[in-house]
Amino acid sequence: MKKNPSIFNDVMGPIMRGPSSSHSAASVRLGRMARDLMDGNIKDILVEFDPKGSLATTHDSQGSDMGLCGGFLGWEAYDERLVNYKEAMDESGINFKVEINDLNVDHPNIYKLTLKNDKETHKMIAISTGGGMIEVIEIDSIQVSMIGDYYETLIYSEETKILDYLKDLSFTDKITDLEGIDTNIIEIKDQKFLDEEVKKNLRSKIKGLVIKEIKPVLPILSREEMDVPFNNCEEMLKYNENKNWDLWELAVQYESIRGNISSKEVIEKMKKIVQIMKDAIFNGIEGTNYSDRILGYQSGEFKAQIEANKLLDCGILNQIILYITAIMETKSSMGVIVAAPTAGACGAIPGALIGAASLMKKSEEELAKAFLAAGIIGIFISNGATFSAEIGGCQAECGSASGMAAAGLVTLKEGKTKSAIDAASMALQNSFGMVCDPVANRVEVPCLGKNVMAASNALSCANMAMANFDAVIPLGEVIKAMNNVGRSIPHELRCTALGGLSITKTSKILEEKLRNN
Ligand code: SF4
Repeated sequence: MKKNPSIFNDVMGPIMRGPSSSHSAASVRLGRMARDLMDGNIKDILVEFDPKGSLATTHDSQGSDMGLCGGFLGWEAYDERLVNYKEAMDESGINFKVEINDLNVDHPNIYKLTLKNDKETHKMIAISTGGGMIEVIEIDSIQVSMIGDYYETLIYSEETKILDYLKDLSFTDKITDLEGIDTNIIEIKDQKFLDEEVKKNLRSKIKGLVIKEIKPVLPILSREEMDVPFNNCEEMLKYNENKNWDLWELAVQYESIRGNISSKEVIEKMKKIVQIMKDAIFNGIEGTNYSDRILGYQSGEFKAQIEANKLLDCGILNQIILYITAIMETKSSMGVIVAAPTAGACGAIPGALIGAASLMKKSEEELAKAFLAAGIIGIFISNGATFSAEIGGCQAECGSASGMAAAGLVTLKEGKTKSAIDAASMALQNSFGMVCDPVANRVEVPCLGKNVMAASNALSCANMAMANFDAVIPLGEVIKAMNNVGRSIPHELRCTALGGLSITKTSKILEEKLRNN
């Protein structure tokens, strides 16, 4: 289980450009951490992917190479220069090479980096854990665990007296002595880097001391004494026994305690994220264009058909379909989106909630609360299952989004906490077994349809739950079962482009055509 995920770190984010959060955005974060390890001075980079993993077949088309290079150049995941990363790398003089080698690992999303400049060489191994989250698991052959939620100081030294000196200082967070075969690293996780005076003092004590400073890449930092009020749905219901709070209030409470920020700040942060999603919808409807793309501009036509009353009347569903299509088009043209919970599934939740809210005339505040309710369901999924399609297929992405959107829709309609949880349970139950088989190795087809299906399912389940339909299986048990089902989906159908629609004749022709573009 991950330690205390945050709605803003793990569920509603990152804010990014590119086709896939687990490829494009996770790799930017990793690249930025690697850049810091090299003090911003990189000459040669070797990136190795395992042939049995997902990245071997998807690193180029789904944006891992782009994200890594953006990170090596010090960019953010939403930097507009990402689209021209190859030219920028050429100009920077950094040699970037990718090799597919047997890494003897059992995770599908492993990055092995060897970084060199004229003075030093460092190695880093990291995992993309889904939805843009990463974990650096090894630096210079020493086991570490860094997810980018701290200011990390690494002191390379054999001298134990440094440790004594550091322990005398009043640190709020963690100091660990990490022993390797050839190297010894003292790792300090804190809310800031060491003061200049402390570093000067250390350097005066030990000659040739090497200090590396790796900046956080997540928006919400962690703390050693950090706690959360609950980790799963069962604990939350117990916590709520005498309070009778709405789901969004429980979400605010969770995030406020987790991030050490006020309830007001939590709501304001969510409002800003919702605004970015609204911009993505607006930009998509305005019209988008991008050469490396299968689908054209379809949202404009859909809008025109709604306005001409040429479509079946599905209540708010047509507005939802329009908004999902617009967001997915923005994503596929390298526009800015929010991975919620992932980039592939970035349309379902905002499409459902913003689409419904626009017709229900809901305020910004009410909309932010609905997103927070969706967010807390995401926390439970993050703790009990995964958002990574490489581990759990599309049920991990669009399935999760469906469960989260269902809870958000109930909240938007001012439904009870129980209804929101039941809606999430039902929507997840209906999503089991969804495979990930992107056409032409691009995150467009069947991704658009699956986002629409996720939101339609969410809408149905929200109404069913508010009409007191019986979800039968409690949410916590559903998430547990979902995790088991996801992991039993064959490797070929978990974002490897080795099965399903990915290997159809048309998919292969499209892939070749896009490659030649
Ligand atoms: S099929 Fe689903 S999981 Fe796979 S890339 Fe598309 S949206 Fe993501």
